[in-house]
Amino acid sequence: MENNSLVNVKFREILTWTVYPGVMSIGLMIYYGLKNYGINVFLSSYVATIIAGVGLITFFELVLPYRKEWLPSRSDIGTDFLFMMLVQVLLPYLLSILSMSWLLGFFKNNNWNLADFWPHNYPIWIQILIMILSGDFLRYWLHRAAHTWTFLWRFHAVHHSVHKLYWLNLGRFHPLDRTLQLFCDALPFIILSVSKEVLALYSVIYSIKGFFQHCNVDVKLGWLNYIISGPELHRWHHSTNINESNNNYGNHTIIWDILFGTYFLPKDKNVCELGFLNRNYPMSFLKQIQAPFIKGIDTVQLE
Ligand SMILES: [Zn+2]
Repeated sequence: MENNSLVNVKFREILTWTVYPGVMSIGLMIYYGLKNYGINVFLSSYVATIIAGVGLITFFELVLPYRKEWLPSRSDIGTDFLFMMLVQVLLPYLLSILSMSWLLGFFKNNNWNLADFWPHNYPIWIQILIMILSGDFLRYWLHRAAHTWTFLWRFHAVHHSVHKLYWLNLGRFHPLDRTLQLFCDALPFIILSVSKEVLALYSVIYSIKGFFQHCNVDVKLGWLNYIISGPELHRWHHSTNINESNNNYGNHTIIWDILFGTYFLPKDKNVCELGFLNRNYPMSFLKQIQAPFIKGIDTVQLE
């Protein structure tokens, strides 16, 4: 019996260290497998994200939860699913169509060839690295501003209203907050005419990384916590204590936080309560869309 529990403890320990690189690798293998089979690159990226991101991370949240009490209720799942579909899937799709048709047309009519500013002939992984670093630099300052300027905070507060973290509540953003984010880390690359192959691969990494950042899986990243903005760092960003939460703004990478002095990962304690001190903040979809326009509802986090 004791041997069995020792094996379980060891197996769990191995899983905590391997689940992140393992799931990310499976996602990339599915993407490349489908793409090399001749499937459209964007369809390949969706399938890879759904199998590795949605399927495997949901599985590991059930078998290897970080906190059992963070497992979502039916009503949490319903609201977060609505946010995910409307704000994380439909909104970026509509904005990318709009920027491709309207903005690219506008630049073309004015003879502005912005495509010349992107290194299209660089290897695909170098292009991805440039996207991650430059997009994250803009996202870092937008995110930091959203935690310090009352106007932006009112919209960003929707994302911080959750009391538990699990992958699906990655979708819980106010549409205006999400639009500003897309202007930092997605639309510039479409306007610069980055190729479909690069955008599709970026999308696989972007999505699986995002799901992991919010996941309720007992993931350990070790020294990678100085490079990747993973769940161990991001949980502190959702703390009710603003001395803890006004840190770790990075989306993909944490290096901008290290450089600009907002890195926070204490070794000797775990995060306690998440969300606001105000536990009466509305939690339904429609009320959260209206919440930024109700004065004083969310100021506690800024005081
Ligand atoms: Zn935030």
